[in-house]
Amino acid sequence: MKILFYGTKNYDEQFFEKLLPEFPDIKIKFIEANIHEETASLANGYEAICAFVNADLGAPVIEELHQQGVKLILMRCAGYNNVDLKTAHKYGIKVLRVPGYSPEAVAEHAMALALTANRHTHKAYIKCRENNFTLSGLMGVNLYKKTAGIIGTGKIGQAMARICKGFGMRVIAYDLFPNKNLDFLEYVSLDELLATSDLISLHCPLTDETKHIINEKTIAQMKDGVILVNTSRGGLIKTEDLISGIRDHKFFAVGLDVYEEESDYVFEDLSESIMQTSLIQRLLSFPNVTMTSHQGFFTEEALTNIAETTMENAQAYINGDELKNEVLS
Ligand code: NAD
Repeated sequence: MKILFYGTKNYDEQFFEKLLPEFPDIKIKFIEANIHEETASLANGYEAICAFVNADLGAPVIEELHQQGVKLILMRCAGYNNVDLKTAHKYGIKVLRVPGYSPEAVAEHAMALALTANRHTHKAYIKCRENNFTLSGLMGVNLYKKTAGIIGTGKIGQAMARICKGFGMRVIAYDLFPNKNLDFLEYVSLDELLATSDLISLHCPLTDETKHIINEKTIAQMKDGVILVNTSRGGLIKTEDLISGIRDHKFFAVGLDVYEEESDYVFEDLSESIMQTSLIQRLLSFPNVTMTSHQGFFTEEALTNIAETTMENAQAYINGDELKNEVLS
């Protein structure tokens, strides 16, 4: 099977190439270009393509992939909100993903963001390097004995719940499908979670129901001085409303690994560019907002698991085995 690997970064090549000798049926062509309407035709002659969270796999792109004979889309990530599944299924194109490649990688980053945003370690680092040993602007709050509210208690949400528990926090959660894996977790309504949490961390997927789950109304329900962390998907937060909430002093701190508008910029070095959008810049103008660029997944363990599962997904397709990581709807 020939796979066209879109949006290649050096670390992708490094982790996938290591595995190629174990999968003699698979050949990979790595290209830097990401997939979108102008680059979909490059898949001519490839049975499969491999793409990441920042790919455009909307209906027109999938139509083009079908024209080029592509039968398989290998997502090297867990989320698939950027894939038009209806169109893929219409053409019999299978979509496979990598669920739960390292929930701890993302959860640990969520806590890192909460701590950085709260204790200003990013600013303290720069101040110390400039021989400025004052503490002005660095005061935080204890997490110990505070309440953490986890929205979405799948693999990552549960890992975050365990971390928060380890910090001595009370941990409450909201999920459409509560699970009983963690006996310390108290499930509550979304309203109660919003009203009682000191730290709110988002871990549900982006769907029609969860789009803008954090908006003017839900922000108003939150406690004053709340810390909000999003490592899930930017579309969970209505950014304009978040900006208003920050201006109203609602938040003690906000930590964002994902944000609306990120798809045009994420994983790119645009330090020499004139930015054509302003949401990200407005968020960055606030002293209590800390942002990273979708790096929650970025650990050695996660990249190893992503490469292994993606290759196994492709091999299962070649063998005609059960596709346990197929995205059906
Ligand atoms: P998961 O499928 O294991 O868990 C998602 C949970 O959200 C489930 O328990 C589900 O019932 C719940 N949920 C669904 N709809 C809901 C709703 N309307 N309200 C409340 N809960 C709802 O997924 P996961 O592996 O824990 O990943 C969660 C998300 O994290 C992914 O969808 C992805 O967007 C994001 N993610 C981010 C990174 C990163 O690098 N920042 C990496 C991987 C995943």
